[in-house]
Amino acid sequence: MKFIRFGDAGQEQPGIQDENGKNLDCSSFGEDWNEHFFTSDGLNRLKDWLASQKESLPEVPANARIGSPIARPSKIICIGLNYLKHAKEAGMEVPTIPIVFMKATSSLSGPFDPILIPKNSEKSDWEVELAVIIGKRTKYVSKEEAMDHVLGYAVHNDVSERDFQLNHGGQWVKGKSADSFAPIGPVLVTKDEIPDPHNLRLWLKLNGKMLQDSNTSDLIFDIPTIIEHLSQYMTLLPGDIISTGTPSGVGMGLNPPTYLQKGDVIELGIEGLGEARQVAMEDPEG
Ligand code: ZN
Repeated sequence: MKFIRFGDAGQEQPGIQDENGKNLDCSSFGEDWNEHFFTSDGLNRLKDWLASQKESLPEVPANARIGSPIARPSKIICIGLNYLKHAKEAGMEVPTIPIVFMKATSSLSGPFDPILIPKNSEKSDWEVELAVIIGKRTKYVSKEEAMDHVLGYAVHNDVSERDFQLNHGGQWVKGKSADSFAPIGPVLVTKDEIPDPHNLRLWLKLNGKMLQDSNTSDLIFDIPTIIEHLSQYMTLLPGDIISTGTPSGVGMGLNPPTYLQKGDVIELGIEGLGEARQVAMEDPEG
């Protein structure tokens, strides 16, 4: 199953993408793709409903905005420095235990929404990442159990303001949480359609130039290890987003370092999970 959401920001309607890539409007199902839906066995209920309704579902208008495929979750958790070459380009030690930080859930945005360069930002940067979406309550799970708790996967750009992140004191959260800093999608693909999440090409282009091009086989800490680790410290809830880290090729690591300017076009994608595109602009509220 491929979940989508469409419509104006904050008023998204639920949908699915069918096997032909057609986006179908599921608003008549009457629920959003959110924590409550996934907690209450929504995936199976939706499958049953689709068996009788799918043929009659309207197509999503081609000009509709595509939102995050999942409604605002309880948490967006990120793993830092989880690819060897990225840790080196960042000038950081290769971690021996997962580095964990969070993004404000208000940073969630659609896969084709503009990236808003925040007020006083000079170092807004990109990070293509495999996002894992949690499917059921997850507390104190082992590595062996961890994959049973995964709902599926999506493309995520962990947009990062490096000066806010590294030079404004305290935690990385300051550089990770601005509005539009967590575009997710275009689709949330359930795990049954992704046989090996640890062998997916992921890439990102800036203005047509390939800057990140790697594979999730290079993750330092794999998905079961990350879920086991996180679940010792907090309860993961259905719909929670765990972003697994970015490979090398971010702006901070280029020579000279390069950051987002208004009008820059970012395209990014992951094998099997689709492609997203974002244009940078100044935050109109800035
Ligand atoms: Zn990241």
